[in-house]
Amino acid sequence: MSIFSRIIDREIPADIVFESERLIAFRDIAPQAPVHLLVVPKTEEYANVTELAAGDPALLAELVATARDLAAEHSDGDFRLVFNTGENAGQTVFHVHAHVLAGGLAEGSLGGE
Ligand code: 5GP
Repeated sequence: MSIFSRIIDREIPADIVFESERLIAFRDIAPQAPVHLLVVPKTEEYANVTELAAGDPALLAELVATARDLAAEHSDGDFRLVFNTGENAGQTVFHVHAHVLAGGLAEGSLGGE
C-alpha cells in the first residue's frame, strides 16, 4: 500500500485540505513553496500522470479542476501544477499525485531555483 493510501485510510496523519469521492488533497510534508499541496486520486491503480491520462482522463480533469479551486482558496488563484514522472525526474511516490505550488513564484522561470 502506498504512503498516500495510508493517509487516505487515516493510518498516518496529514493536514487534509480537501476530500471528495475520488480525490484527496493535503499539505506536502516538505513544502517547496508558500503553498504546496498534493492532490491525489484515492485509487493507487495509476503510478503516474501518463497512466492516469490513458486510464481515466475524466479523473485527471477532475484533479486539475480541484487544483484550480485549491489555488484560489489557498492563494491568489495562480499556480504551478507539477507531476514528477519517473525516478530520474524526482518521483518518489509511485501513486499518481499533482504538486500544487502557489504564492510568490513569479521570479523563477521554471521552478524558481
Ligand atoms: P514526488 O517526489 O513523488 O513527486 O512527491 C512526493 C511528495 O510527497 C514529496 O514532495 C514529499 O515531501 C511528500 N511526502 C512524502 N511522504 C509524505 C507524508 O507522509 N506526508 C505528506 N504530507 N507528504 C509526504
